[in-house]
Amino acid sequence: MFSKKIVKVGNVAMGGKNKILVQSMLNKPSEDIAANVAQAKELEENGCEIIRISVPNNESVKTVFALKQALRIPVVADIHFDYRMAIESIYAGADKIRINPGNIEDKNQLKQIVDLCIEKNVPIRVGLNSGCIPKHILAKKGPTAEALVDATLECILTLNSFDFDNIVVSLKSSSVLQTIEAYTSISSKTDYPLHLGVTEAGTAETGIVKSSIGIGHLLLNGIGDTIRVALTGEPIEEVKTGINILKALNLKTGLDIISCPTCGRTKTNLIDITNRIKDKLMKTSVRDKDIKIAVMGCAVNGPGEARNVDFGIACGKHEGLIFKRGKIIKKVPEEELVMEFINIVLQETQ
Ligand code: SF4
Repeated sequence: MFSKKIVKVGNVAMGGKNKILVQSMLNKPSEDIAANVAQAKELEENGCEIIRISVPNNESVKTVFALKQALRIPVVADIHFDYRMAIESIYAGADKIRINPGNIEDKNQLKQIVDLCIEKNVPIRVGLNSGCIPKHILAKKGPTAEALVDATLECILTLNSFDFDNIVVSLKSSSVLQTIEAYTSISSKTDYPLHLGVTEAGTAETGIVKSSIGIGHLLLNGIGDTIRVALTGEPIEEVKTGINILKALNLKTGLDIISCPTCGRTKTNLIDITNRIKDKLMKTSVRDKDIKIAVMGCAVNGPGEARNVDFGIACGKHEGLIFKRGKIIKKVPEEELVMEFINIVLQETQ
């Protein structure tokens, strides 16, 4: 059920059988070039595959240009109301434009954006949110998933009327269930790549849960081509959560760490041990390898889990057994366990 159409966003292909792309949005003041470039580079280094930036004024167009010089991944300009910002962003090198056509009422202005997109082969994301359904649709359908779908189809038809087909679609709701309903419905009505997300999902505590359920449900049903986890927080957390959603669904390979929840039997500082191992390995190339690690607290499940993975630790009292592909290779005191384990994993996987 993946989208049938494929859209090229800069140097990446979105849709069809292409991999699901993880994206995030910068949250520094758009005019602050240095801060945005630094944040974008950090996101790129941590696996972000598309970066979006708000472009509300001419100063922020300069940031789009600077991002294009600094990054390898595509840059998307997010435009509301002022069509000139879309035009300028495309000239500055933006690889995709996100607009809500309903926010650009003058059809002539919208056509100018579309004509330049055709000339430069730049796609447009029709990006609707539950908060911006036009009044005439709200009056008929109320604030429902169906209204969101109707509003989105109306925007797509407007772009199609300008002979434009280079489209990505999103229709996010702050309700998980409404998001699922809306995307499920639109996936049977259009072939365009779908950008998934639950909008205004809140801080990490609630946002990660809402996004995982909403995005996860849709991806499991074969719906969606790119994802953005929206959190009131640092964009890096959005990227990490997006990657973890894909890994949990086997849609992305990479280091997988399983660890026990700890209990009264735990006789090491297992939480600290696990966090240090994760933090160190995620800064190495092991991060992107298809490797499974288990960090377990005691002899109940420890040896069993540690044996079934590439590398494992089964802790005892202030010490741990290190396993390599099913076999015990060392017993190490707790204070040396993290470094010894990391060294073994790196030696065996480089
Ligand atoms: S593996 Fe051992 S320490 Fe960890 S939760 Fe299970 S019983 Fe407790």
